[in-house]
Amino acid sequence: MTAPRPRRILVAEESRTMADFMSRVLESAGFEIVLARDGEECLDQARSACPDLVILDLMMPKIHGLDVLKQLQADTPRSAPGVLVCSAKDFKTEVEQARELGAFSFLSKPFSPQELLAQVEGFFSAKDPGRVHPPSPHDHPERIFRPQLTADRGVYRLWGTRGSIPVSGPGFVRHGGNTSSMEVGFQKDRILFDAGSGIRDLGLSLLGGRPCHLHLFITHTHWDHIQGFPFFAPAFIPGYEITLYAPPNIDKDLESIFRGQLDRAYFPVQMEDMQAHLEFKHLQGNSLEIGDCRVSWEYTLHPSPTVGYKVELGERSLAYVPDNEFLKGYLGSPAEIGRDSQLLAIHARLIEFLTGVDVLIHEAQYTNDEYLKKIGWGHTSLSNACALIRHSGARKWIVTHHDPIHDDEFLQRKLNLTQQLLCDLGCPPEVEHGHDGLVGYL
Ligand SMILES: [Zn+2]
Ligand SMILES: [Zn+2]
Repeated sequence: MTAPRPRRILVAEESRTMADFMSRVLESAGFEIVLARDGEECLDQARSACPDLVILDLMMPKIHGLDVLKQLQADTPRSAPGVLVCSAKDFKTEVEQARELGAFSFLSKPFSPQELLAQVEGFFSAKDPGRVHPPSPHDHPERIFRPQLTADRGVYRLWGTRGSIPVSGPGFVRHGGNTSSMEVGFQKDRILFDAGSGIRDLGLSLLGGRPCHLHLFITHTHWDHIQGFPFFAPAFIPGYEITLYAPPNIDKDLESIFRGQLDRAYFPVQMEDMQAHLEFKHLQGNSLEIGDCRVSWEYTLHPSPTVGYKVELGERSLAYVPDNEFLKGYLGSPAEIGRDSQLLAIHARLIEFLTGVDVLIHEAQYTNDEYLKKIGWGHTSLSNACALIRHSGARKWIVTHHDPIHDDEFLQRKLNLTQQLLCDLGCPPEVEHGHDGLVGYL
């Protein structure tokens, strides 16, 4: 008496990896396997090898799987082998068409060995036509990847990116017209930088929450970095504590400067009308800790005492340097500024301070042509700023402190030129223009 022939399965599958995988699983369960690599071969094998079951891929070379299915039914309408369609193309349309053309079931790729065996054994045990149904993501909820925004990354938001004076009009819609202001937020802490006109919107954004302690770091007290403070709503609300920090000024202390711009001659409301608790501090030492953030500072080259700030949060860092005349007076190519250049030595501390920051928010206020007439005004030419990016190794550069004369169209052309200059210097050109409302994560 001869042993019964093992069940024979024709696996029609173009991918060798998939075909090997299915063969291994099915052979170890005692099935005999015949392979076909395309639709034509599948029809030939179905005729010659007389399989009991065909496992059929849909996206096959030469003849599409659904046409193969149609042909199998036409060839032997009474004794066609069972067909298990096995495809990644498990849209409702394909599943319904497979069912209408006589497929026994539909198995979605990718699948586990258990899923394959369950389908195949289901066919042989009952020859039940089974249910041809599209797979649902809810079949395996544990496999669903659902990333959530976590609170352990700092967020930064620019509220004002214009230098010198606010601007408005149709040419300034995209970049915005508010003068310097930005914030870094991490969990409950919000650290603010500069009080240009952008701080007005920043203040309004805080009003939904409870009064809290705000730390406001001023790079320097030029008009475009403090002019928004009289319009900073939290300063008028009891319960807010606002600590202002700035580098010491030789002529006037910080409080006098802020009090001065609220003088009756300039403004109808005086500092006494501000009901928040205000505290004025000159920067001392190199850094201080606010919650989990470390804020440090370094002097920049700009008229009157001016600093740039760096916020470090764990391994991540962001530096904010809106006013800095890097390579003052230099008119040559940035490619000629080598590591040992005397011009770089002047900025050695700042370069060290900025080395390797993840995000550097730094100005490039003037085009090279404009800089010819504005040497010594405290701002950097575009190509000199590119040299700083190269030598600091900052990973991302957000250009800020846009000149009030530069409208959106001009700034777009300037950004294209910036990318070209950085490419020419061999720097990764991850650069974008700051605009009012820009948000990023550390
Ligand atoms: Zn400025
Ligand atoms: Zn300034």
